[in-house]
Amino acid sequence: MFTINENYQKLPGSYLFSTIAKKVNDYSAKNPEKKIIRLGIGDVTQPLVPAILEALHKAVDEMGNAKTFHGYAPDLGYDFLRNAIVEHDYRIRGCDITADEIFVSDGAKSDSANIQEIFGSNNRIAVCDPVYPVYVDSNVMAGRTGTYDAGTERWSDVIYMPCTMENDFVPELPKERPDMIYLCLPNNPTGTTITKPQLQAWVDYANQVGAVIIYDAAYEAYISEENVPHSIYECEGAKTCAIELKSFSKNAGFTGVRLGYTVVPKELKCGDVSLNGMWARRHGTKFNGAPYIQQRAGEAVYSAEGRAQLKEQIGYYMRNAAAIKKGLQEAGYTVFGGVNAPYIWLKTPGKMTSWEFFDDLLERANVVGTPGSGFGPSGEGYFRLTAFGSHENTIAALKRIQSL
Ligand SMILES: *Cc1c(COP(=O)(O)O)cnc(C)c1O
Repeated sequence: MFTINENYQKLPGSYLFSTIAKKVNDYSAKNPEKKIIRLGIGDVTQPLVPAILEALHKAVDEMGNAKTFHGYAPDLGYDFLRNAIVEHDYRIRGCDITADEIFVSDGAKSDSANIQEIFGSNNRIAVCDPVYPVYVDSNVMAGRTGTYDAGTERWSDVIYMPCTMENDFVPELPKERPDMIYLCLPNNPTGTTITKPQLQAWVDYANQVGAVIIYDAAYEAYISEENVPHSIYECEGAKTCAIELKSFSKNAGFTGVRLGYTVVPKELKCGDVSLNGMWARRHGTKFNGAPYIQQRAGEAVYSAEGRAQLKEQIGYYMRNAAAIKKGLQEAGYTVFGGVNAPYIWLKTPGKMTSWEFFDDLLERANVVGTPGSGFGPSGEGYFRLTAFGSHENTIAALKRIQSL
């Protein structure tokens, strides 16, 4: 008789977005006349920009002609896309990354969940708290996290690095020694980030203790401040300790298109074994390549028109972020993020818990956000609003919150 991967049984239910949906549905059913504004889930709302649409249409037409048809894509991605990535995401920033270190994929969620499988099952992981849940859950499934304590909401074998207003949301070097360190910067959910010297300290630490950093840069395009690194490879020594994950979802609206990539430098080694070779082998065995059509769309992200149009689109979201931040501050809230990321992280007023504030906001303002405690115990007492709504909805939501 078959058995199952018992590690899945250890996963606590992911109640966050289903609980939110249920609360919102219940409220709507009782109050059908109320117009609810959703600033909860981290999904984009603005349409694909013209340069990308044009590339998609062209690629679709090519697929309908035997002469220009494309079947299986190369496992690691088409050269036209990998070269564009190297040029625009790395070379112009002075990062020495080459095309054979880029692995094109269907997005950063799958890469961030899959990357753990090339590491030993006894490795200890360190994560920020609050955290994007995929990093922890994928390691739970692999049996790397020990046992779950529902009281503390923590896994016995995971090293947690609290990021709160007390430490300016900058994770501190852990006292226990981790083997794999997950960093998401700029951060989802807190919308905050760290400076280049602060990231350099992490790179130095990882090289010193022999840890690997899994660096999720999904929100890189939202960085507006000078001293914030766009890539971990801007730090000296990162090529011997860091893997970087990138997504086209947040910078180009590809949440429904699906495209991302991972950088595994050739210098990143465990003894004599190259992780680049391992990830190439993993990709070749378990992935048949991101679609040609999507990769052409990804190439358009880096064209002159694409870059100009996306700068405009990111500006649109960041004007929302600035409006939310300013409006909430004027209303007396303590607010973080929103400068280098499309998320606003606010302190709940008084002694309200994250869920109490959620209910209050839903019932009195008809605005939906995300309770900070859903991202980890250190998120308790915080609340996330996204800047991904339409400008009209964002301003309307803000007015309602201000009039509470
Ligand atoms: C949105 C997001 C991603 C992107 O995932 P895709 O699978 O590329 O859509 C990755 N990491 C974080 C932290 C995110 O918020």
